[in-house]
Amino acid sequence: HPLVRLAHVNKRYSNGTVALRDMSLDVGEGEFVSLLGPSGCGKSTALRMIAGLLSLSSGEIRWPDRDGGSDTARQDISFVFQEPTLMPWTTVFENVYLPLKLSGVDRAAATPAVKDALALVGLSKFADVYPRELSGGMKMRVSIARAMVTHPKLLLMDEPFAALDEMTRAKLNDDVLRLWQERKLTVMFVTHNVWESVYLSSRIVVMAARPGRVVDDIRIDAPYPRT
Ligand code: ADP
Ligand code: ADP
Repeated sequence: HPLVRLAHVNKRYSNGTVALRDMSLDVGEGEFVSLLGPSGCGKSTALRMIAGLLSLSSGEIRWPDRDGGSDTARQDISFVFQEPTLMPWTTVFENVYLPLKLSGVDRAAATPAVKDALALVGLSKFADVYPRELSGGMKMRVSIARAMVTHPKLLLMDEPFAALDEMTRAKLNDDVLRLWQERKLTVMFVTHNVWESVYLSSRIVVMAARPGRVVDDIRIDAPYPRT
């Protein structure tokens, strides 16, 4: 059975915009799903509803493995936004530690997990550095480490690399693929970049705008592992 199931999900914002119409989608464990489509087709809206950050207008989102099937237990979902949104006044270590700190894990107990997450993105040597000293790509790596430190089952990424240069983006794409394979993650990755979705995904859900809706669902028989 799927990790998450969207059934006839609709979203109408309070200003009247219909952002998403009748979206149904099963995402299986271990899939790497891209939501691909033009700006305004509801990709972010869908992702934010899955994350529990936004209410549905109708339809439902279910988690069959969770008690009751509809409980939005947030701890096994992580979200990476386009803006890394790091705390500038403190170190890389503290930024990555934050999600564990918020769930009450003390620093000593969290340290191995923080170090592990930093190693995962090649930032072991940067634990004591402040975000302002880092490039855009490195800030994004910190953001990915922060998302991974809680060992999520599902990683949601909303156009994470759109603001980065092509070289950095290519490297980060490979890192995300490696992460997905090593950690047996399920990933949902929002992009309007066809190349990126083809390179990364095991499945591409194609969306169209006005109103936002799913128009195709393509499974790619890729020769994994590719990294
Ligand atoms: P909901 O009722 O589903 O929580 P709202 O319609 O209240 O969502 O909108 C949430 C916030 O997003 C509002 O503060 C609104 O001003 C802002 N917003 C409005 N239009 C847009 C838009 N096109 N893109 C992004 N944000 C918007
Ligand atoms: P995408 O991620 O594919 O660019 P979005 O989910 O951000 O699409 O937006 C889908 C549609 O909903 C767009 O028309 C957008 O302007 C509108 N929208 C997004 N957020 C809000 C909001 N908070 N309030 C009103 N309209 C919104």
